[in-house]
Amino acid sequence: MFPVLVLIILGFYAYNNYYNIPEAILTGTVFLPVMLALIAIAVSFHFNRSHIFFYVVLIIVNNVFLGMQLAISDLAYSLLSLFIPLLLLGVTVLPERGIISVRTVPVYLLLILPLIISLVITSNQPEWAIFIMLTDWLPGKYFDWTQQYQMVVFASVFVFITMLVLYFIRLTLQMATGLGVLIMLVAQLHFGRDADSLNVFSVMALLMCIYAVIHESWRMAYLDELTELPTRRALREKFQSLGGVYTVAMLDVDHFKKFNDTFGHDTGDAVLRMIATKMNKVSGGGVPYRYGGEEFTIVFNGKDGADTNQHLEELREKIANTPFVINRASRRKNDAKSRKVKNKSVRVTVSIGVADSRDNDLSPWALLKNADKALYRAKKKGRNCVCS
Ligand code: GH3
Ligand code: MG
Ligand code: MG
Repeated sequence: MFPVLVLIILGFYAYNNYYNIPEAILTGTVFLPVMLALIAIAVSFHFNRSHIFFYVVLIIVNNVFLGMQLAISDLAYSLLSLFIPLLLLGVTVLPERGIISVRTVPVYLLLILPLIISLVITSNQPEWAIFIMLTDWLPGKYFDWTQQYQMVVFASVFVFITMLVLYFIRLTLQMATGLGVLIMLVAQLHFGRDADSLNVFSVMALLMCIYAVIHESWRMAYLDELTELPTRRALREKFQSLGGVYTVAMLDVDHFKKFNDTFGHDTGDAVLRMIATKMNKVSGGGVPYRYGGEEFTIVFNGKDGADTNQHLEELREKIANTPFVINRASRRKNDAKSRKVKNKSVRVTVSIGVADSRDNDLSPWALLKNADKALYRAKKKGRNCVCS
């Protein structure tokens, strides 16, 4: 949420101080919204991020209508201000299905429908539409702060609250981006149709979209999807920066193949997630990584093997002492074996091998190999133990 928040604040700050910005900078940024829109379209297309793509489409639509003054009458302007937030909500709640796909057709229809409705309404001006859109439903004094009609304010507030609730339920960057883009678009519509300074809101909204796509692709490369731990790629980068005293520990789940065979692969996945949660809480400043499969690595920078022993023992014990309930949710429906064992509580153990950089001049990768050898010894010793 933090980068989105910064861009929101920056948007309002730049809007309020727009005419203090030196002329040279302003003339240099005339094409900025267009360039950012092109970049945002390109990256969301490249990574096939349909939500962000449709946010960008809404930002562009909003700008085209405001910039070209396509919605001048009160009714047309109100319809635009009504539909933009509602569409943003609609695009957000629809599942991610790619940008060009048969299954995305409903989204395109959803986007086109309000346009058709608005065209019909503005050309026929039916009384019921004027009544709904332009009536003061509540005492006007509560709405002195805005030029928007009450219906628009109601819809914007409704969408904002819904998006806020969705954000707190999902807590994803995409939701934060949706919320940020909503605030920027509503601000743009609220402040009117003729100011050049309105551009700052679209610039910030587009930056949010670009940031969201780039951040998401970073996550895909550096965070493991199942456990959300950093991946081996992240470990490689960590190894490049390591020096001095540090310890590398390799952790492997005991008899995991048998566990999978008995309880099903999905339950195995749930166990890996549980272990990752425990590893994230490892004391002593250890940073966990998913090395691959059911093998994990923990790096303790600035600590030697003796320093880390107690922390690793604690972690091993915590995992061994956590009962894992095989429940309905984690068993496969058509898996006869796991059906028999539902709601049974089992325990999983891990073996850990440790190597530190103290007595030798080994590279981190060579150290990792030593930790792997120590892990092998731990397995031979009977598993559920730490060996160095
Ligand atoms: P040991 O105590 O010697 O480590 O025995 P093990 O059965 O754990 O050893 P092995 O390395 O032969 O088995 C690893 C198993 O881990 C094989 C594979 O089915 C399972 N596994 C690897 N990655 C995943 C995963 O992402 N999810 C699940 N559910 N299982 C995985
Ligand atoms: Mg293994
Ligand atoms: Mg294993």
